[in-house]
Amino acid sequence: MGIITREHSWYNHWMRNFFTQKVTWSLFFSVITIIVGFGCWGYGIYHYAQTLAKLDETTRELSDRQIASQERMKGLEDRLASLEGANSNLMGALKTEQEKTGSTLEQIGQISNTVGVLSKLSKTDPELLKKYSKAYFLNEHYVPLSLATIDSQYLSNPKATLQIHASVWPYLQRLLVAGQTNGMHMQILSAYRSFGTQAVLKSAYRITYGAGTANAFSAEQGYSEHQLGTTIDFTTPAIGSALTGFDKTSEYQWLLDNAYQYGFVISYPKENTFYTFEPWHWRFVGVALATRLHQSNQYFYAMDQREIDNYLANIFD
Ligand SMILES: [Zn+2]
Repeated sequence: MGIITREHSWYNHWMRNFFTQKVTWSLFFSVITIIVGFGCWGYGIYHYAQTLAKLDETTRELSDRQIASQERMKGLEDRLASLEGANSNLMGALKTEQEKTGSTLEQIGQISNTVGVLSKLSKTDPELLKKYSKAYFLNEHYVPLSLATIDSQYLSNPKATLQIHASVWPYLQRLLVAGQTNGMHMQILSAYRSFGTQAVLKSAYRITYGAGTANAFSAEQGYSEHQLGTTIDFTTPAIGSALTGFDKTSEYQWLLDNAYQYGFVISYPKENTFYTFEPWHWRFVGVALATRLHQSNQYFYAMDQREIDNYLANIFD
């Protein structure tokens, strides 16, 4: 009974004083504040840890992604490199093919060029660029492929009928017109001469001058060139058919300076070692060869026949 009373008494005592004592209230609120404070702090710590963990996870995830994307990038770079390699190989192969094609085309070009040259050569009279001498001259039956009649206005004797190789005529006409334009008065004294005509002429010379003299200025080389149809004897109205002094005329000087442009060269220039000087006697050899001879200050008969032959295909170009 005594214990109950005591307990009862303690309880009553505490209860009685609980709401009346300020200390007790303060203590109570302090405890509550501490509990709440700790709770909040704990939650804060927990939340912070959670956030850190999440952040950490996110960072890891990002890092993983970055690694993955770096790996992917690396893979792409490798692929690109291998594609570039393949591309480079393809380009190399293409270049090789192009080179092959190029060289084939070049070969085809060379072949067609050769065919063109051969075709031209087959159509070009090989006699046109031959050197003639006492040992080698034209067959008596040789006649040019085609002959054209020279316009009488250019002739020394307008009543004569003179002919020239038909393919040479346009070049000769251009030369004559250019000469006239520059105040020259060139006339044609002689052009194509057949073997028969030449033989008659030569025997006439023989009768007049004797065999030795006739051979000196009307030898085989000379008449062979006229028989070709590509050779002209020029004169002027003042000189006429005598031909003496033609080398002193301005026409002769003009021919020396300009005839090559029309494909003509002097066959037997002054001081040539081949034949008597014939300032009036000009042979058509084509513009390319005439230009070459003019530029190198050389004359036709001093040139090697094999070298001359290289110009045959283009004689009428
Ligand atoms: Zn002549």
